Amino acid sequence: MSSMILPLNGWAAGKLQKSFTADVEFFQAFENEDIMGASVNVSCTASKRGQDILLDLVMEGKVTVICDRCLENLDIPVSLTAALVSRTEEGGEESADGREVLLHEVTDKELDLSQVVYDYICLSLPMQRVHPEGQCNPDTVRYLGRTIEVPDPDPVDNPFSVLKGLLNSK
Ligand SMILES: [Zn+2]
Repeated sequence: MSSMILPLNGWAAGKLQKSFTADVEFFQAFENEDIMGASVNVSCTASKRGQDILLDLVMEGKVTVICDRCLENLDIPVSLTAALVSRTEEGGEESADGREVLLHEVTDKELDLSQVVYDYICLSLPMQRVHPEGQCNPDTVRYLGRTIEVPDPDPVDNPFSVLKGLLNSK
């Protein structure tokens, strides 16, 4: 696992570019048991503005979770950006321009972006994690006794339309 640590010193001007990969060990380090696999490339561009360090993150890749319906692996694409500003409590005079503020101590030598990256990715995941219609594993769904709603290609043979016909004929 590459660490998501950015040095705060030693680069006075210009931009600092760093990239990391958030893999499954990264999520496991946060004791996340929902993530079965992950490959998210995180690239961070840092630039200094006065006392502030502006951080622009791009997160691209996918995470694998368990489908709520068939319990098979389900890949969820990740495509996110985040705009942050890292500053000390004393240096926070300027407007954050809508950026999320990360506070660091004046004595800090480096900035660990792990928690931020973790939060952004986890918050982006949908609440309902299921395969698109028709793509669940039918065997596990049957075994689990769950129903898959598949649009019937032939409405005449649909047992519900037959039933409806019976009910209507009474
Ligand atoms: Zn499924």
